[in-house]
Amino acid sequence: MKPLETATFTNSFVDELAGDPSRENVPRQVPGYHYSPVAPTPVANPQLLQWSAEMGAELGLERPPEQGAAVELLAGNRVADSMRPYAARYGGHQFGNWAGQLGDGRAISLGELPGQDGRRWEVQLKGAGPTPYSRRADGRAVLRSSVREFLCSEAMHHLGVPTTRALSLVSTGDEVLRDMFYDGNARPEPGAIVARVAPSFVRFGNFQILLAHQETDNLRALADYVIRQHFPELGAPDSPEVYVAWLTEIARRTAEMVAHWQTVGFVHGVLNTDNMSILGLTIDYGPYGWLEPYEPGWTPNTTDFTNYRYAFGQQPQVCLWNLTQLAQALTPLVPDPELLRPALNQYVATFNRSHHVRLLAKLGLTASTDEAADKLLVGSLLPAMEGAQVDMTLFYRHLSHLVPRLLADESAEGLATELLSAVSYAAPEAAGAAPLRAWLEEYAARLRQEPGTPEAIRAGMLAVNPKYVLRNYLAQQAIEAAEAGNLAPLHTLHEVLKRPFDEQPEHETLAARRPAWAATKPGSATLSCSS
Ligand code: AMP
Ligand code: MG
Repeated sequence: MKPLETATFTNSFVDELAGDPSRENVPRQVPGYHYSPVAPTPVANPQLLQWSAEMGAELGLERPPEQGAAVELLAGNRVADSMRPYAARYGGHQFGNWAGQLGDGRAISLGELPGQDGRRWEVQLKGAGPTPYSRRADGRAVLRSSVREFLCSEAMHHLGVPTTRALSLVSTGDEVLRDMFYDGNARPEPGAIVARVAPSFVRFGNFQILLAHQETDNLRALADYVIRQHFPELGAPDSPEVYVAWLTEIARRTAEMVAHWQTVGFVHGVLNTDNMSILGLTIDYGPYGWLEPYEPGWTPNTTDFTNYRYAFGQQPQVCLWNLTQLAQALTPLVPDPELLRPALNQYVATFNRSHHVRLLAKLGLTASTDEAADKLLVGSLLPAMEGAQVDMTLFYRHLSHLVPRLLADESAEGLATELLSAVSYAAPEAAGAAPLRAWLEEYAARLRQEPGTPEAIRAGMLAVNPKYVLRNYLAQQAIEAAEAGNLAPLHTLHEVLKRPFDEQPEHETLAARRPAWAATKPGSATLSCSS
């Protein structure tokens, strides 16, 4: 383990792709290039607020002191000799409409560091100041959104969901003006910078912008770079078949990612094509949220309240739509575009399979000979959960604990009342709960066909049904405390969410049903893209 300031960075993206020759750091179009070299803009008084020891260990880095050389690097006040910082050029569809050039408007990549297995991780500062892609915005990020990105990306990692990571959270000492709900109420907020980490931050939109500008040579160069660096198992990209195999693998990874989201209750909130990772990682934590009452139509993002395009239940469809845009962007590399279609079918097949297998595991069921009956049982649970207004996380967790009693032939009716009392936001005897009560009877019958012992089934379920997720109001409470100078709730949440499947009796309150006040509170129940 060594101090960050002694680390040597490599810069494959900059070395291997086309860089903008202009150094003019003003908003502009950058046709013809993959990225613009740009240095972070220094901040007033950087201080380390949070550090991910796990990500640090992966990179062989010591936890730095609150201030000093490492924090200067993590705030963009200093650029190491080995770094070649850049902002990437990308475009994207926002809410279904082509938006043209977007690009890293406030994220600046510093370079890459090797992980424990020698593979490289890119380190990127989010909120590091303006770039040629900042459009009308300031290149900065506020503390609340930075806390949210830090906590959630690390929590997702510990849940086993593919995601970009966070290394550090630094306060800048500068204020940033934000209109949180775009309603004319702008106010100064504390600024912050997250150093986030991923093997690559390339998005679907990096390819789309090259199609839009018919930059086919750049398109091929970027595809070949990504395949070489991140999909070496596909071999040299010397034929259209390799691009097809590559898209198929992206589709498979994306499907696995969304299947994870759907079974932990994560709502991304802004699934624009520029927020889709080419590696199938959850990326760009903005107005995301966690389902509390199970409600497929829910999104926390007020910017999406007209169409609910990115609501929880829409995510699998929307990711397919996004993949279709990526396939479109790759058509110049494949003479017969029909060759790309099977990759999209692969997405549908992978999602359906992975989602079903994950739901079975959450219910402690192993695949049976009667798959159709299992699909019906699992399929009828989701609307039943919605009708009964159960808290998604608590429902699966409590159900896990009930299994031995269900198998000991305790009355399913009595257990249903007990379960609903513990996990529903409605009265246990509410009419909407009837389908869930009926479901529990069927489930008990199906459980009896399982070969495992009741205890083994329960243990298996507890290993896949988290007790702790980043509930929307808990994140907001940690933010409000941090804004007032109290970092304790943030540190506690970060620690607890590293062991989401463990019982942590001293933190029972962090696994409680959402309190009534939080159901409508701005920042908890509602968020926007303003960050
Ligand atoms: P997002 O909605 O966060 O995915 O961002 C969409 C686009 O807006 C991306 O190109 C971002 O880099 C850019 N963007 C968002 N916030 C800012 C900001 N404060 N300053 C500059 N660019 C921004
Ligand atoms: Mg984005």
